[in-house]
Amino acid sequence: MTPVAEMTPVTEVMPAAEWAPWAAWAPSTLSHHDRECCTTARAWFLAMNRSMWRGHGGPAWIAQRFPWGPSRWPLYWCDAMEAEEVDCGAHAALTIEAFQARGIHVVPVQLVQRQEPHHLLHFHGRWSADGASPDWAGEGAAYHEACATLLDGRVEVWDATVSSWLSPDQLRGVRSIAAVRIGGTIATGEVVTWRGLEISLGEWVSPAGVAGEG
Ligand SMILES: [Zn+2]
Repeated sequence: MTPVAEMTPVTEVMPAAEWAPWAAWAPSTLSHHDRECCTTARAWFLAMNRSMWRGHGGPAWIAQRFPWGPSRWPLYWCDAMEAEEVDCGAHAALTIEAFQARGIHVVPVQLVQRQEPHHLLHFHGRWSADGASPDWAGEGAAYHEACATLLDGRVEVWDATVSSWLSPDQLRGVRSIAAVRIGGTIATGEVVTWRGLEISLGEWVSPAGVAGEG
């Protein structure tokens, strides 16, 4: 007997099992207490960003300063800046701030990446032990966040957690891209190109499906 999963209706054309669990998730954003604590924390971050990164490549200093680990959400600026580690949603949110501070147009990127199934238990244990939600980690696939710079209809995707640019042809193996949504939850109809792959902003797609290699 197969239990009927409680699912948010998926309006996209090609619902794929690998991204369905996270289809309704919105990109992470940092919260602000509207008080001095967060104002100071954000100012500190922007000052660090100015001194640690000149605007070439991506702001690799962020993941060096804040290694990857569990975050509890909502995550406030003041808590994030004091954290010893933060998750990929925080990495992405901070990186968007970093790019914007350099005058670069940047949009959020959500990914479903393939993972070794045996990592699931480890991830769930580590996140739960910190009081953080482990729902990002699924069986053989995991939700991930990054961001994309956008210029003249072309995007480049920066994965702040691993401090490198991603390519849509990473279709096999661990961390390969099962699905991607560029631009968050609002579909504008605008089509951008990511290294030859055409993607409508705000819509989940499978790079393999779009490239016709599925
Ligand atoms: Zn605060």
